[in-house]
Amino acid sequence: MIPGGVDSPVRAFGSVGGAPRFIASAQGARVTDSEGHSLVDLVCSWGPMLLGHAHPAVVEAVQEAAARGLSFGAPTETETLLAEEIRRRVPAAQRVRFVSTGTEATMTAVRLARGATGRDLVVKFAGCYHGHSDGLLAEAGSGVATGGLPGSAGVPAPIAAQTVVLPYNDVAALEECFLARGSSIAAVICEGAPANMGVVPPRDGFNEAIRRITEAHGALMILDEVLTGFRVDPAGWWGLESRGGTSVGSGTAPTMLHGHNLDVPGHPGTPRWVPDLFTFGKVVGGGMPLAAIGGRSDVMELLAPLGPVYQAGTLSGNPLATAAGLTTLRLADDAVCARVDEAATTVASILSEALDREGVPHSVQRAGSLFSLAFGPEAAAHSVLDYAQAKAQEVWRYPAFFHALLDGGIAAPPSVFEAWFLSAAHGPEEFDRIALAAPSAARAAAQ
Ligand code: PLP
Repeated sequence: MIPGGVDSPVRAFGSVGGAPRFIASAQGARVTDSEGHSLVDLVCSWGPMLLGHAHPAVVEAVQEAAARGLSFGAPTETETLLAEEIRRRVPAAQRVRFVSTGTEATMTAVRLARGATGRDLVVKFAGCYHGHSDGLLAEAGSGVATGGLPGSAGVPAPIAAQTVVLPYNDVAALEECFLARGSSIAAVICEGAPANMGVVPPRDGFNEAIRRITEAHGALMILDEVLTGFRVDPAGWWGLESRGGTSVGSGTAPTMLHGHNLDVPGHPGTPRWVPDLFTFGKVVGGGMPLAAIGGRSDVMELLAPLGPVYQAGTLSGNPLATAAGLTTLRLADDAVCARVDEAATTVASILSEALDREGVPHSVQRAGSLFSLAFGPEAAAHSVLDYAQAKAQEVWRYPAFFHALLDGGIAAPPSVFEAWFLSAAHGPEEFDRIALAAPSAARAAAQ
């Protein structure tokens, strides 16, 4: 009945072979399939389940909201509280608009950038995934990378021509592109840290360079934090860099943006760069369909009904979704992010040590609490830094590795081009189970 048996291609086992399990229920760090097998879940719904599955406080908030009505198509208090919670963490999100999916958030951010600048071109990086809107599918990561596709059929050539694709982590290529076409470029969109071609950490200062170059040419910077937002740090990837957690380059530190203080409460350090627009998704909805665009008030107020840039949605800011998101964010504090970070370190080292014992060359690709594995001597010699390197790895090692883990009760992402997701519910029992399954998975990857 359902094409490929899935509602999103990343769920299919296209690149690893076999058929995906049907999931009947989930609790904490485990999912249970329809045949009753309990699996340690390292997918976490592709990111949203930072607190683990069916967290009692989140479930209760959704139940209470449901009892008050499923959707009103009118403003609610919860959406305002959630917008304020986002701004508290990310002060540069001076205004916030809620939508239902990350795809809508990035699509709207791009439209806003075009509306604000009067320019058409958008720059994205090869291997980054920003959802499935027409203009952003070129050389996209995630399922497009897994399927080995250059983009998607059905995208008209004139639309594809409005997207310029550059190699990630390459400041020179970005500078060259802006020298040649800068006056036509509306925005550069980038993931905080790419995690859709496997995890690829930004080189020190790369995000800051994007900021410097876009600003010099009057283009906007859109930081896509759909995946990284509120997961790698309570203030997302931008927050992690701001507090010096990683990849902080040099430069003048902006402390004010359009009259607003950018200091993040509880965050030592000052942001060295600030994008014009952010997109959030996944954790922001705590497992319910919710995403958001945030950013400079002068740009955000170009959105209808205040301005000429149109965006709408019957279920946008849905009361159940905002209840789940607000409860999740209120719980997702420093301690939770630190715990998830530690869990990622533990799981990555269990897997990496098992692979080392079998002599399988690999690198652990790490950005904050996100990690993935890249296989082959090239990856082992120097971490993967762009899409060309990600594609050049020994991808053929992954299917056997994945299936051996699955046979051992561990549900890893069914593609080497996806990040592995942990939650605050992953603990010693799950680590022990992963440690039991890891040796045979490593042996399978060695063959
Ligand atoms: N942006 C990034 C960085 C993502 O990882 C994703 C989804 O994985 C999206 C956008 C699209 O979000 P959604 O799947 O909610 O449309």
